[in-house]
Amino acid sequence: MRLPIYLDYAATTPVDPRVAALLGRHLTLDGLFGNPSSTTHIFGRQAAPVIATARRQVAHLLNADPREIIWTSGATEANNLALIGVMRAQTRRGRHLITSKTEHKAVLDVCRWIEQNGCTVTYLDPDPDGQIPLERIAEALRPDTVLVSLMHVNNETGVIHDLAAIGALTRARGILFHVDAAQSAGKLPIDLQKLPVDLLSLSAHKLYGPKGIGALYVRQRPVRVRLEPLLYGGGQERGLRAGTLPTHQIAAMGEAFRIAGEEMDAEQARVRCLRDRLWQAFVALGAVEWNGHPQNNVAGILNVSFTGVVAEAVLAALLEIAVSTGSACTSASNEPSHVLRAMGVDPLRARAAIRFSLGRFTTVEEIDHTARVVVKAVSRLRELSPLWEGYPQGV
Ligand SMILES: *Cc1c(COP(=O)(O)O)cnc(C)c1O
Repeated sequence: MRLPIYLDYAATTPVDPRVAALLGRHLTLDGLFGNPSSTTHIFGRQAAPVIATARRQVAHLLNADPREIIWTSGATEANNLALIGVMRAQTRRGRHLITSKTEHKAVLDVCRWIEQNGCTVTYLDPDPDGQIPLERIAEALRPDTVLVSLMHVNNETGVIHDLAAIGALTRARGILFHVDAAQSAGKLPIDLQKLPVDLLSLSAHKLYGPKGIGALYVRQRPVRVRLEPLLYGGGQERGLRAGTLPTHQIAAMGEAFRIAGEEMDAEQARVRCLRDRLWQAFVALGAVEWNGHPQNNVAGILNVSFTGVVAEAVLAALLEIAVSTGSACTSASNEPSHVLRAMGVDPLRARAAIRFSLGRFTTVEEIDHTARVVVKAVSRLRELSPLWEGYPQGV
């Protein structure tokens, strides 16, 4: 077993060696490095099919049409393009957008900007388990609602939203439905022929591809979703996203998505098994709470609070194990997670929350080692903790 141990797959994943090898073949003079828009010579003409293949691979994982895939720099840009692009293009239909308080900052911050630019946004409250009841969404719909934006899988808790049910609701009212699928693509089945989803954001680096590349799915059939670009330039991606296509990044994302399609079922079963093993070790220790929904969740995420110990203290004891408090973006600001706060988790429990996220390269040895180290650290901290004194089971 190699130290340090990486258990922060929800923040980013290492690139799969098969993907890295392919990426490297699209950089140098003896590889397919060309600008796919250069139609006058062989270098460009050889790069164009590389892009086409990757577009098919990404579309295939989602059962979408390759023409519905727009390359972006990641899910953040895809969310920006979806939300701002739609609100700008469809002002005549209305100026109201619905999202939830548990979204990623890459949706919430865009919504703040949209609010400052003449639209209103409704931020839905989740239940204590992180789910949003359908009735609550239905009640928020207004005649001027243009778009509902909800994530598929929450990056902090792993809770899954029911896209089929939510989409049925919006579709019946002629309202567009955008989904941030950065945490779910390649981990849960997504069939866009069946799901009533109009726009869907993707990121490569959450799925063993490189950082800096992602895509936005934009539905073309039966109705074509209209949106305005954020960037103007060379007219790439049917004018929706200007900029020279990064051949190496796109080829790598295609390969990452191809591998995910082939290995998803087996991989998710294995990861779920490891995650449950870690949870059982914590249960044996006692006084541990599961943050999120205990059944309706993605396999790789375990968000727990150990009663009586703040997360920072545990993390300080886990020098050789990489985990996270909340999401990577909020841990920098050292504020309790906005997701857990929205779920109504009490402040002490929120400050104790630690996210373990597992993935393709996680081993059973790593999980057992992590369980031992965490149990030891939490036990020691509890002995010292005034918070723990007086806890019913603590003495
Ligand atoms: C990581 C993540 C993002 C941001 O994706 P980038 O590709 O890094 O821009 C957006 N939404 C969710 C849910 C994420 O987990």
